[in-house]
Amino acid sequence: MRTDVNTLGEFGLIEHLTRDFPLRQPSTIKGVGDDAAVIDNGGLCTVVSTDMLVEGIHFDLAYMPLKHLGYKSVVVNLSDIYAMNAFPRQITVSIAISNRFSVEALDELYAGIRAACDAYGVDLVGGDTSSSLKGLIVSVTAIGQCEKSQLVYRSGARPGDLICITGDLGAAYLGLQLLEREKRIWQENPDVQPDLEGQKYVVGRQLKPEARRDMIETFRKIPLKPTAMIDISDGLASEIFHICKQSKVGALVEESGVPIHQEAQLLALKFKLDPITCALNGGEDYELLFTIDPNDVDKVKFLPDIYIAGEILEAKDGIKLNTKGGNLHDLKAQGWAHF
Ligand code: ADP
Ligand code: MG
Repeated sequence: MRTDVNTLGEFGLIEHLTRDFPLRQPSTIKGVGDDAAVIDNGGLCTVVSTDMLVEGIHFDLAYMPLKHLGYKSVVVNLSDIYAMNAFPRQITVSIAISNRFSVEALDELYAGIRAACDAYGVDLVGGDTSSSLKGLIVSVTAIGQCEKSQLVYRSGARPGDLICITGDLGAAYLGLQLLEREKRIWQENPDVQPDLEGQKYVVGRQLKPEARRDMIETFRKIPLKPTAMIDISDGLASEIFHICKQSKVGALVEESGVPIHQEAQLLALKFKLDPITCALNGGEDYELLFTIDPNDVDKVKFLPDIYIAGEILEAKDGIKLNTKGGNLHDLKAQGWAHF
């Protein structure tokens, strides 16, 4: 028998492949299934996360400069560490390269990696280098630290908790649509220069994302400990589903509470896309989705860049979106089928 991997989808495939791996070590306190794994070293825990970026699947060097690719490949991993309420300390970087890449090109990639290490204060401590027949693959592992009592999982949301979102959503996806369009125009007519005027924000969100270290630092200062947290890498809908599945709860998301940047809003309309669809299913925002105890609402209400966008419900109530027009829809997760 031969089963196509697409019948399972990305998350089904991961569940399938990892189902027969019991956790044997008492120090493994979180294995597969969250933004990062957690290893208990006696009080101070180690948090580990890996992501792989594949040319032609996750990036297109036609519009992604290698320096930006290096920066982004680090940032997407750090984002997973912050999503555990932890702080990244080290990274390893593994690359597979075809003979198309010169030393100068790889220097550019590593200039971006270095810029991210500088910006986030992490050390590059290792990796692996291999050749590939075609294309570039960059795999980064981030290692972080957290006191055991500060760890926040996807599984901690309870009915009545408030749903919070940082920053704004959908812009990175719209930046990608714009870059794809400019690439098509350029392929048809190489004399035409790309027109990205007035679109700096969305293009920046796609080419140079940042992880929300500032939020985790703020949580420590206030202090505030979210009940559950995940980073928004695959679109809000998909991440809400992860939280609901792992916490065994439902959710009500208010469309009016989902933050969307004005430039993203305008560009969506230009592309005849619904801005909320871009926010729900776009992906690559690297913002944080977290839930808080309602008693903590005053702690976030006056913080800049945090938006309250709904409430956690009982599992039986399902996962719903209350539109601006006042209609209730079932929320669908569809932002991750990139096999
Ligand atoms: P994220 O979007 O936060 O990076 P993923 O969706 O990539 O998370 O992964 C979900 C979980 O599955 C994580 O715990 C990750 O470590 C684990 N995982 C992903 N792929 C594999 C694999 N091939 N083998 C084992 N575990 C995996
Ligand atoms: Mg994640």
